[in-house]
Amino acid sequence: MNGELDTMLASTTGSRRPGPAVMDYRQATWVQSFGRSMVRVLIVEDERRLADLLDRGLREAGHTVEVRHSGPDGLLAASTDAFDTVVLDLMLPGLDGLAVCQALRERGNLVPVLMLTARGAVPDRVAGLDAGADDYLSKPFSFDELLARLRALHRRTADATAADLRAGDLLLDPARRRVMRGEVEVEVSAREFDILALLLARAGQCVTRYQILDEVWDGETDLRSNVIDVYIATLRAKVDKPFGRHAIETLRGAGYRLQPDGG
Ligand code: CA
Repeated sequence: MNGELDTMLASTTGSRRPGPAVMDYRQATWVQSFGRSMVRVLIVEDERRLADLLDRGLREAGHTVEVRHSGPDGLLAASTDAFDTVVLDLMLPGLDGLAVCQALRERGNLVPVLMLTARGAVPDRVAGLDAGADDYLSKPFSFDELLARLRALHRRTADATAADLRAGDLLLDPARRRVMRGEVEVEVSAREFDILALLLARAGQCVTRYQILDEVWDGETDLRSNVIDVYIATLRAKVDKPFGRHAIETLRGAGYRLQPDGG
């Protein structure tokens, strides 16, 4: 089923890329950690065939799925019903994905949003993250990749028991998913939060790109490593620059290091 779905996804989204090596997602760790409890997913996608395939695949994995085909319908559904994750296409009739995401955040709705963007469209990704999306996935994608992203998003919302991480006046509170610089609360996306948590947990030590990919992106291998630079840049712009600090160092050719004193 999974291989078949990948092939269909690829043809739907116009890819010539074959599906990945077949892995039965019923045996994947996602099912063990994420699939045990039912997860409610909202899919907002105007390509009917793609939406139907995602709907079917996620239902077969044991989840509850709602599908909407336009921006306004998606926004209404996400605002009136509680979902664990929203898979939000960027190009939608009525309201695009960015506007939907922004509207949700403005209403204080922090549901994890996975944005679907066109392949390689870097400005789209940056705009998506700026609009408050937690992650993005470029079309065409494999079903396994989607599952991996959803699993990671879900896991992030589940570390409510972890202890605070601190370096100087930089504080990260996993239970509330909050970042503070002194008395000031800093808004970060879910992915930024995870990277900062990793750097803080290993303050004073070099954290390599590979470690970040492995722990924050769940070992996805087809990710371009410069995506990490983008996240580091936005993190610096949030936790360092406005405060005249330099907590996050780049170790050329090696990785990153967070100053144990908070910079
Ligand atoms: Ca679309």
